[in-house]
Amino acid sequence: MAQIVCKNASFAYEGRDAVSGLNFAVNASEYHCVVGENGSGKSTLIKGLLRLKAPAQGEIEYGDGLNANEIGYLPQQTAAQKDFPASVYEVVLSGRLSRRGLRPFYTKEDKRTAMENMERLDLISLKKRCYRELSGGQQQRVLLARALCATRKALLLDEPVSGLDPLVTQELYRLIHGINKELGVTIVMVSHDVASAVQYADFILHLQSKQAFFGTAEEYKRSPFGKAFLGGERP
Ligand code: ADP
Ligand code: MG
Repeated sequence: MAQIVCKNASFAYEGRDAVSGLNFAVNASEYHCVVGENGSGKSTLIKGLLRLKAPAQGEIEYGDGLNANEIGYLPQQTAAQKDFPASVYEVVLSGRLSRRGLRPFYTKEDKRTAMENMERLDLISLKKRCYRELSGGQQQRVLLARALCATRKALLLDEPVSGLDPLVTQELYRLIHGINKELGVTIVMVSHDVASAVQYADFILHLQSKQAFFGTAEEYKRSPFGKAFLGGERP
């Protein structure tokens, strides 16, 4: 079975559907991009895939040995989170909390994993810096390293590049691509940037308060739907 399967699922707030008709599977080491306009249900779906929100209908199933605490999550950013008063190292290390259970301390392995991920994301020189004093791109690298501390299996990234300038955005895409290709970590990433989504992702899920398209990036590019969005027009 795939790692994550969405079966006829819908999600609602106070009885009103936010996003519905969700039918797709995510297999180990695949790279999926979720695209769609504001309010189309992307963040709601990500919370559903994490089981932070229960489906109103249908099911979200995990397979292939995946557990909820083995999914790394980078939430959509809010102003409050950008003000986090901790060092880069502390923020990255806190990604191990879900594994720590009742132990009151971090193990050597926790610390080694944190250092490895800081190295991968080029954060060693920023180790002692305060998180809230970093640039937006540096903060996202820290949160990516933190999410990677929780998993070697799957990362769910909700708009990891929003608000970043084009150069920093390209750098983050390159790092995420490396995590997928070199470490084999499954990626499900929400993005507004359809052109980059088809460049990097294997599969595209396009939401319009329902599942409007799901298929490979190549199929998406050829579809009337993808053509219209890549051309900048609305179907
Ligand atoms: P996106 O991430 O694509 O911008 P969201 O998943 O945040 O979309 O929202 C999908 C729909 O659900 C929107 O109509 C939004 O207003 C609604 N919604 C999102 N969060 C809540 C909430 N906590 N309470 C009520 N409605 C919500
Ligand atoms: Mg959102």
